[in-house]
Amino acid sequence: MCGIVGVLGDHEVAPILVEALKRLEYRGYDSAGIATVNNGQLDRRRAVGKLANLSDLLVHDPLAGKSGIGHTRWATHGAPSIINAHPHRAGPVAVVHNGIIENFRELQTELTERGVAFQTDTDTETIALFAQVHMADGTDPVTAAFRALDKLKGTFAVAFLFDGEEDLIVAARKGSPLAIGYGDGEMFVGSDAIALAPLSSRITYLKEGDLAIRPDINTLCPKKSLNSPAF
Ligand code: GLU
Repeated sequence: MCGIVGVLGDHEVAPILVEALKRLEYRGYDSAGIATVNNGQLDRRRAVGKLANLSDLLVHDPLAGKSGIGHTRWATHGAPSIINAHPHRAGPVAVVHNGIIENFRELQTELTERGVAFQTDTDTETIALFAQVHMADGTDPVTAAFRALDKLKGTFAVAFLFDGEEDLIVAARKGSPLAIGYGDGEMFVGSDAIALAPLSSRITYLKEGDLAIRPDINTLCPKKSLNSPAF
């Protein structure tokens, strides 16, 4: 079981993400990574093995930005490698994901038939690719994320970050817990309260099938009211 964190903050987010991931180390992992949006541009860093390897990479190749997502991976689809480490990127979309997409092969076939190429061996990449396909049609990021989530079968927790959107994370869960933390003008999402405790003055858990979006991440939106995926 791996870990997810997300921060929409007021400070440089890379060290905050790594510290939050450290608090999720107890869950086990084989690789780790973070993505940020800085001046509208998504970028990411990933490393195999301990979080110290990711920290070392960030010393030599820093990642600026005040919004970001992070992940510790426990590989289920594809070897533990940098290419398969999260966050996964497809054009304007970066995704971190806990869990298993049970209909991965079906989704892979659908994307392949649409001419979409895969860069990784993971099930997770399908989420990013579906969101990218929708955004390429001019769909807004939140709707594109909802449509991608709508395709998924299985248990998961997911967080999306987008090019050009420094104040937006879309987070969703089904079967895996996901906590939302409220700070002083900052918002956090994470696999559990331990990850978020030092950052947040208040923590709530997303309910099954809920989605959180920001701006308005503090409005936890039952799926029906958002016309969002039926999971
Ligand atoms: N199934 C995904 C993968 O293999 C996520 C695994 C996890 O929960 O860390 O990359």
